Amino acid sequence: MLPRLTPLIAALILTVSAPVAQAQLSVVATTGMIADTAQEIGGDHVALRPLMGPGVDPHAYRQTRSDIVAMTRADLVLWHGLFLEAQMEDFFEDLARSRNVTAVAEVTPRELLLAHEDYANRFDPHLWMVPGLWRHAAMEIRDALIAADPENAQDYTANAETFFAALEALSDYATQSLSTVPEAQRVLVTAHDAFNYFGQAHGFEVLGIQGISTDSEAGLSRIAELVDLLVERNIAAVFVESSVSDRNIRALIEGAAARGHAVEIGGELYSDAMGDPGTHEGTYIGMIDHNVTVITRALGGEAPERGMSGRLSAGM
Ligand SMILES: [Zn+2]
Repeated sequence: MLPRLTPLIAALILTVSAPVAQAQLSVVATTGMIADTAQEIGGDHVALRPLMGPGVDPHAYRQTRSDIVAMTRADLVLWHGLFLEAQMEDFFEDLARSRNVTAVAEVTPRELLLAHEDYANRFDPHLWMVPGLWRHAAMEIRDALIAADPENAQDYTANAETFFAALEALSDYATQSLSTVPEAQRVLVTAHDAFNYFGQAHGFEVLGIQGISTDSEAGLSRIAELVDLLVERNIAAVFVESSVSDRNIRALIEGAAARGHAVEIGGELYSDAMGDPGTHEGTYIGMIDHNVTVITRALGGEAPERGMSGRLSAGM
């Protein structure tokens, strides 16, 4: 017996004593918001690949051939769910049969979700607009990382705590800034219905020209209805979105001008995609900081021009 065991023992000793270069966990994420959150929590242990960059609309996005290759090779695939990635729904269902796939927003407690008339039996997916709601997705991301790579659980837990603290600071900044907007001005007119959670959290009325998904065509009657409202309520600013065409917003402004009411573009908001990589706006925290700051200032409230921590790009 002994002589036969020896090579095995030798091999075991070699394995244990050889310095092992730790491989990173390869993670693919659909939206930038998920990718950035996973990067914050994963730190150096993960190699992230976001599928959708700045300006990309997740309601319309379809996986490319290279996305499919990346996802079938990844250790972990993170997507949003709640019908946000409507064109990829079937693909993820299939992928989940053989790969490690997590829909990070699906775990949000049902009582926190908003229904929407556009979607029978479905919920509004735009949860990232409120940091306190995004925390649920961040917890799910943390747990998925720990399940995929239990050896580094301690780091994932610690990084998540740091991220949660940043979410709390962001939430406080949002509440404080937006409460300075005069009550009559708390109306947010945007290209599509991405801001319902935001409106609920901060007491803003939210009016999207298009519905909750960008694939619904905005009718002329909807635009006419919103022009009436802008004029009647003397609303001075409407907002464009980085991931949605500004065509309808411009039609609104022209319609109001024809009625002798000047409306300006209050700024560009990051609704379903973040800003450029390498900028503050290209992070989850930065995108919300930007939105809160731009909305507050355009609607007559008070917020520092460069945002919560002075890191927003100048002239936005
Ligand atoms: Zn959307």
